[in-house]
Amino acid sequence: MKNIDSLLSDDLIKAKIPGETSGIEIKKTICSICNPTTHCGIDAYVRNGTVIKVEGSLNHPHNEGTLCCKGAASRQYIYHPERIKAPLRKKGDGKSGLFEAIDWDSALDDIASRLQKIKVDSGPEAVVFFAGYSKWMRPFLQRLAHLFGTPNYCSESSTCFFATLISSMLTYGDMGGPDVEHARCLMMWSANPMHSETPDARHLMDAKQNGMKIIEVGPFLTPMSRLADLHLRLRPGTSGALALGMANIIIQENLHDLAFVSKWSYGFDAFKTYAAEFTPSVTSQITNVPAGLIIKAARLYATTKPAAMYNGASATVHHTNGVQNHRAIVTLIGLTGNFDCKGGNKVISPSYCHVPAGFVTREAEFEHPCPWDGMAPRAGHDRFPIWSAVVNEAQAMHVPTQIDTGVPYPIRAMVAFGLNYRMWPGSDHMQASLKKLDFLVDVDLFMTDSAKLADIVLPAASSFERSEMKIWPERYAMWTQPVIAPIGQSRSDIDIICDLADRLNLNDPLLSQGHEACMDWIMAPIGLKMAELKVSPQGRFIENQPLTPYLKYEKDGFATPTGKMEFTSSLLAEAGLDPLPRYMEPAISPVSTPHIAEKYPLVLTTGARLPMFIHSRTFRLPWNRMIRPDPKLDLNPLDARSRQISHNDWVQLETPRASIKVRANITEITPPGVVNMYHAFPGADVNLLIEPDYLDPISGYPGFKSLLCQINKTDNIDKECLCGHN
Ligand code: SF4
Repeated sequence: MKNIDSLLSDDLIKAKIPGETSGIEIKKTICSICNPTTHCGIDAYVRNGTVIKVEGSLNHPHNEGTLCCKGAASRQYIYHPERIKAPLRKKGDGKSGLFEAIDWDSALDDIASRLQKIKVDSGPEAVVFFAGYSKWMRPFLQRLAHLFGTPNYCSESSTCFFATLISSMLTYGDMGGPDVEHARCLMMWSANPMHSETPDARHLMDAKQNGMKIIEVGPFLTPMSRLADLHLRLRPGTSGALALGMANIIIQENLHDLAFVSKWSYGFDAFKTYAAEFTPSVTSQITNVPAGLIIKAARLYATTKPAAMYNGASATVHHTNGVQNHRAIVTLIGLTGNFDCKGGNKVISPSYCHVPAGFVTREAEFEHPCPWDGMAPRAGHDRFPIWSAVVNEAQAMHVPTQIDTGVPYPIRAMVAFGLNYRMWPGSDHMQASLKKLDFLVDVDLFMTDSAKLADIVLPAASSFERSEMKIWPERYAMWTQPVIAPIGQSRSDIDIICDLADRLNLNDPLLSQGHEACMDWIMAPIGLKMAELKVSPQGRFIENQPLTPYLKYEKDGFATPTGKMEFTSSLLAEAGLDPLPRYMEPAISPVSTPHIAEKYPLVLTTGARLPMFIHSRTFRLPWNRMIRPDPKLDLNPLDARSRQISHNDWVQLETPRASIKVRANITEITPPGVVNMYHAFPGADVNLLIEPDYLDPISGYPGFKSLLCQINKTDNIDKECLCGHN
């Protein structure tokens, strides 16, 4: 065997060994395929300006050398043949659907003049600025929108995370994340970090090895189920009832934190009286969880101190009763005295792009430079007043309705980054609404089905081709530098936004100076300068910042109207809504709509993650798609057997609204009576099966996870119609 010194240059290149002889250099960057709270550090092996290999950065404190299967396929992502390589404009009157390449100046000039004309004719609010994936440009896009004069900046967060945030804000005026490192018990409530937050999952496994108890709540068997001491497999949409049932046991058995509740809570007596309705047997009847298991879980969580709660971003709020479900869940944290304590749910300030690093920056000031009262009401303002009171954005779920009705004012144009109309319930409705716009711009890496609707499409650069200021919860920061030249004429989203600001004559002293100067301004309170970060391309820890203390409410109170944790919400009461975290059946369920359940007896849940996909972003990557080439519906063997359905059969999945053809994936992952469908498949888009107005009246979030459906065996079909990319 040759030793490394005697290897020839070709051997070294073949083995991808970096060094002068091979000409291979390791350059530091990040994966930004999924959300900003992860963004794993990457070692990009670059030769002759091409990435030939990627590895997780071993010395990066967030992912410590790991990558999930999406990040591991980064080369297929950045070099995909379907990358958009130049700005594109619809040809002629647009009816042919064909595009022609144009230069950047023409594209930006055209966009600016069309937007200015709409602003003059219909007001700035007639233009919506929308951020889908990726999310890194959001503060810049929001600033652009507000400086343009429209209140209608909105984002993919209209269906992700913000409803859980609203629930916490209504209850605590803040949100606490699980302090896993110090917890002795962890309640995992509808969360599956193995699929959605892989860097977090490693810490959970370590904590479990160190003796932490895990209670898992959720209908499906997940990789977490193997680690869990107890698993409560509830009926989808009944989390609120289960939480109230657990609260009742905790109160009845005097396991609650009396000192905290007496001094720091508001509305406890009303809550106690209401929760008493949820006896173990009533709760069991509603949730399908055995009463004995509910009692065990309540006692374990309340008596193992400290205990933390780990919630998925959206699973509990993708129901028409979502916010109240989630409010009931989070009351358990305060009830047991686990709010903001060591090993409980600790409040850490978000520092940039939702990353809780614990120091306050000027991000909020940057992204929202103009007062709301100088602008028109946001889309969805009247329909979802609590959303508007808590969230700094328009509610995107209302946008198609406003495009259709023109009430209270017309929406005529949209400038979108990473638009995907398949994230809306009744996705065909959103698609049709987008076609009614006078002007649509989309910025993306790929020519998606949504981009095809646009008048102008701009090519975005991947994280490998541009710079980005990135911060992690470990108080680590990087200013990434491009590791390769942009593919084609693609550009950084933020550079596009800054150029648009110039062309729209916004005269903004920050955006006009560009990305780096803006980041210096945002990070000024912690004295972080991009020029200094550049000196350490691998990133560095942010030092000399005070650590976030525990129990901050003891000094400052809670940021709620009463200054206390609110079992009964003052804001909900003020809005004429039920102040208690009242349990309601999902609007469509075997209990609330038995007449529908006669024909559609199965509960349909959608939107859960798979490890190889982040929505549809990685559908086109061969390594990832080969794991699930066809749309598949998970169903329990009992439900399959009663319908004579075999594994991999094509079946018709039907709701009262529509039907799609999918393959049967027979698995005990789903309990009997419940089926689960991954979202966003172009030829089998499950969101077609959901009514556009199937929304939680408080948050506007769609009821993606509690529908009724039926499945029937059908003939095999031509695969060609299902294997699109989106
Ligand atoms: S997609 Fe995977 S590798 Fe990339 S940031 Fe997310 S978890 Fe990390």
